[in-house]
Amino acid sequence: MPSHRWYPLLGAMAGFLFILLFIGGAGQDARARMSIPHDEWVNADLRTDANPVSSLRLVTLRSGDHAVAALQRLGFSNSDARRMITAANASYQLKNIRAGQVFKRIDTPEGTDFYYNIDADQRLHLHRNAKQRDWHAEVTQRLVSVRQRIATGVIRGSLFASAERAGMDQRTTMNLVDIFAWDIDFARDMRSGDSFKVIYEERFDDNGRVLGSSILAARFVNQGRTFEAVRYQQKNGQVNYFTPDGKSLRKAYLKAPVKFSRISSRFTLRRKHPILGYTRAHRGVDYAAPMGTPIHAIGDGRIIFKGWKGGYGRFILIRHTNRLHATAYGHMSRYAHVKRGQFVKQGQIIGYVGMSGLATGPHLHFEFRVRGRAVNPLTIKHPPARPIARAERDRFMQQTAPLLGQLKQPSPDVTWG
Ligand SMILES: [Zn+2]
Repeated sequence: MPSHRWYPLLGAMAGFLFILLFIGGAGQDARARMSIPHDEWVNADLRTDANPVSSLRLVTLRSGDHAVAALQRLGFSNSDARRMITAANASYQLKNIRAGQVFKRIDTPEGTDFYYNIDADQRLHLHRNAKQRDWHAEVTQRLVSVRQRIATGVIRGSLFASAERAGMDQRTTMNLVDIFAWDIDFARDMRSGDSFKVIYEERFDDNGRVLGSSILAARFVNQGRTFEAVRYQQKNGQVNYFTPDGKSLRKAYLKAPVKFSRISSRFTLRRKHPILGYTRAHRGVDYAAPMGTPIHAIGDGRIIFKGWKGGYGRFILIRHTNRLHATAYGHMSRYAHVKRGQFVKQGQIIGYVGMSGLATGPHLHFEFRVRGRAVNPLTIKHPPARPIARAERDRFMQQTAPLLGQLKQPSPDVTWG
């Protein structure tokens, strides 16, 4: 591993290569491109509009608006506007326009296009060739465009803040946490200097609104340990995340019952009790977290106790499916809609962080018990993760290779982030 001070140099070199690869052909000065946001150039080939746009204008429809008036605000003449409405009539009647929606006009050397989104799926498209006066109307599926992005960063402060600096939206950060939820305790084990690289795609509608995002591949380096995941759709249609060598990331237990928190006390057999004052074994892990933070069952199991339990306050005990293991959750502010005797699934919210019972501040007291005895959760041996089916191995390797290759490339925006 090169030391950190080489990263800027490596990054700059890789970035330069990227720019040459993606934009070099366009005859632009690569240096001038360095300041534009990463996502604008990382997938320049995804641009859908092949024709240069001379101008793009939008008007937002007001309540009581009339199509002719709105079209005139877009710069069309009164007679043009009437011709457009007539042309549209067979496909869609523009008198039905709704306030708050948008008229869009795009002029190119080839002609003029007009768009109106009828509903979530369909849009009206009027086109006039530059050499003609007639408008042609059609109703088409609204366009969903996909843009691939790469975000890299080093943790300084919280994961959320670091991910945001890298240009990631919160939804993608949450997805990242969920992908590695079986391996990394994001609530307790984040350290300054941990790093991540995430390749993800965003889907946009034709108004530029983000419809969703999906992580394609990710790497997280936590306290020197590297975790990698790649998205893969199996032959049976199921989409899951796997390690590069084809093992499922899913395991019997999540690494942590809460996703985010502040660092609090660790599992020890001896420490001074903060309220009682004397030294008493602390057989659990405390997650100091804001009041109301959701608490998740770390594995499938049955709720065998739900209620007030002395210093633990509001308390839930889950016996897991192998029957040897149980997990306990204390100090809750309230329970989720779960009942004693109920079967809960891994990740299901069972309650919310609080400070009921003996607690100096809001936190979750969490215990992992083996045959009834609390143990350090870090010492639990997990059964080996299930690998991808042998018959599907070649397909998996083939389909994931390009993404894993991208994941391994040095990250240019470490320098420019
Ligand atoms: Zn505790």
